[in-house]
Amino acid sequence: MRFNEGAGLDTSDVQDVRGSGGFGGGRGLAVGGGGLGVVGLIVVVLFQVLGGSGSGSGLAGFDGIVQDQAADNSQLAQDCRTGADANRSVECAVVADIDSIQDYWTQVLGAQYQRTDTVFFAGQVQTQCGAASSGTGPFYCPADQLVYIDLSFYDELTQRFGAEGGLFVDAYVLAHEYGHHVQDLLGISGQVTSGVTGPTSGSVRLELQADCFAGTWANHAETVPDESGRPLIADITDDDIARALDAAGRIGDDFIQENLVGGPVDEGSFTHGSSEQRQRWFTTGYTTGDPNQCDTFGTDDLG
Ligand SMILES: [Zn+2]
Repeated sequence: MRFNEGAGLDTSDVQDVRGSGGFGGGRGLAVGGGGLGVVGLIVVVLFQVLGGSGSGSGLAGFDGIVQDQAADNSQLAQDCRTGADANRSVECAVVADIDSIQDYWTQVLGAQYQRTDTVFFAGQVQTQCGAASSGTGPFYCPADQLVYIDLSFYDELTQRFGAEGGLFVDAYVLAHEYGHHVQDLLGISGQVTSGVTGPTSGSVRLELQADCFAGTWANHAETVPDESGRPLIADITDDDIARALDAAGRIGDDFIQENLVGGPVDEGSFTHGSSEQRQRWFTTGYTTGDPNQCDTFGTDDLG
């Protein structure tokens, strides 16, 4: 995968709070060691589900803290102007991914789709779903309808999870999170009971559907036009898809439980689905390119 060199990048869907004070953060803060990352990926869903649709208010101190967290996109806007910049820089690539993913959903859903921002943070961040750290992994907070990512997660994905990684994998991660935004807009996540886990739980169905939605975006990514009328992304290869499937296989509940937590596989605690299921649903989305094929709630066969 690459970005079309001449395409223009728009940083207005990003809130860069990496330089903000008060969190001991700053660029390049290392992700915590030990089991933090793994615990984090499990927390993502609780976080997301507990956040619930429209809940998440009443976090003491939130208003006070968020003031220290003012976004400053000036550096990003200066660095990330064109597709050529996205080919050179991971953060510019993410800016382009966010544009492409939202252009796609606007095309699919029309006025029903409301664009939303991704917050780039370093170390820790306050959200309307509560405080989060890098160890949480990228996540979507329904209460403020924002996607959050510490870009150091991509290093963790290759180093701790052993994924091959790459530009397309980075994009898949974001497309998954924007899938949760779509679920929120369509009222799907609001119908899922909070805190229930297990192989056929609403949580697992939500996660697999988000993977499927990521796949439908990937199917259309090379053709969906940006504001200037041309696609941002070109040349998604078989190798890119293989890398996405490799990544999906390393963030399944069974893989994490077995290889990163070091315990037996406990289906009863599944929140995201097995590695095989995550691969299957991404593939369903990618091969069909049709979000209607992503009805993980309407089937007994989750894979
Ligand atoms: Zn998710």
